[in-house]
Amino acid sequence: MSYDKKIEVEIFQRDRRSDVDVRILREPPPDIHCPEEVVALAKSLAPAFYIDVGNVCNQNCVYCSVERRQLVRTRRQDALANGQAAMRHGFSTCVLIGGEPTIWPPLFSVLEQLNTAGLMGTVLTTNGLMLSYKPYVDNLEQHAVHTVALSYDDWRSENQRNLSRRADAGDLLEEALANLARSPMQTYLYAVVTRHLKDQGKPFAHWFAHAAQTFRRKPYLLFAGLKPLERAHSHYGQLSLSLTDTAQVVKDAIKEAPNASIAYRDIPLCLIPDHLGRSLDLYHQHASLDTATGETSPAALATDREWAPQCSSCKLRGYCPAIYQTYLEQVGADEFSPF
Ligand code: SF4
Repeated sequence: MSYDKKIEVEIFQRDRRSDVDVRILREPPPDIHCPEEVVALAKSLAPAFYIDVGNVCNQNCVYCSVERRQLVRTRRQDALANGQAAMRHGFSTCVLIGGEPTIWPPLFSVLEQLNTAGLMGTVLTTNGLMLSYKPYVDNLEQHAVHTVALSYDDWRSENQRNLSRRADAGDLLEEALANLARSPMQTYLYAVVTRHLKDQGKPFAHWFAHAAQTFRRKPYLLFAGLKPLERAHSHYGQLSLSLTDTAQVVKDAIKEAPNASIAYRDIPLCLIPDHLGRSLDLYHQHASLDTATGETSPAALATDREWAPQCSSCKLRGYCPAIYQTYLEQVGADEFSPF
């Protein structure tokens, strides 16, 4: 690999929005068994407001669903203003998303100010590269980050390299995992289920149950359905897995490691009927907060998702993440059956 070629890119400032995306905690439907540790995870992640730092990233994942027609960054003062407004309206946990929050230049100064203003905790979603440095992890702890959502799509380093398209991804993730294992912060491994994981739920869970023993705080493994958008849409042919096979990965993982803390999101509920209580979609609702009035409006169904015709009679439709249009166009709607 040659590093002598300089590539210059322009990064624009993102326009400030007058509303803030928030995640609300809701009661799951009655009569569903909700494992205690999944409820605890759901409660540690909501209610919360999001700071989307922009789409700049130090990785180039093949399945990334983030829009990148131009590179944008959120300005420090806009993140602060929106965070302070959300806190005034009762949201005291922050979820950092991107792009990659760990390379957002004002990260620690924003956290410092929000912490001083009364922020109760922060959830960091990250590709984990920066967490391979122990002092960086220490700094996160000192800034009251309580949960790290680490992208961890495969336990095999060769697949980590292929999915992230970084030769050093496997080594750096191993360091990051070791640093998190020693940390008092809560960790959840966030695994997007692509074709690489077909029939791999059992060995993945086996690896996870073993790795979990090295952690100071019991970690979670959170599976998520593939979002066939943007770069993931361009590579859909090489990544796609039917939602039935995606659900099977989760079911096999739970069967293999029933005592491990395994949850999922973004997978239609009817495909995992025996483990409904492990879907975070039951507990979380996305909404938009009007920073002037403090009113929240539930987010409408995203324009890229749809319902299958049979969903109209489903009792759990209000909790289901729905299905991506791309998926319905390519695979059809035969897999789904209403509750
Ligand atoms: S039938 Fe439709 S709404 Fe009901 S769980 Fe399945 S995909 Fe979701």
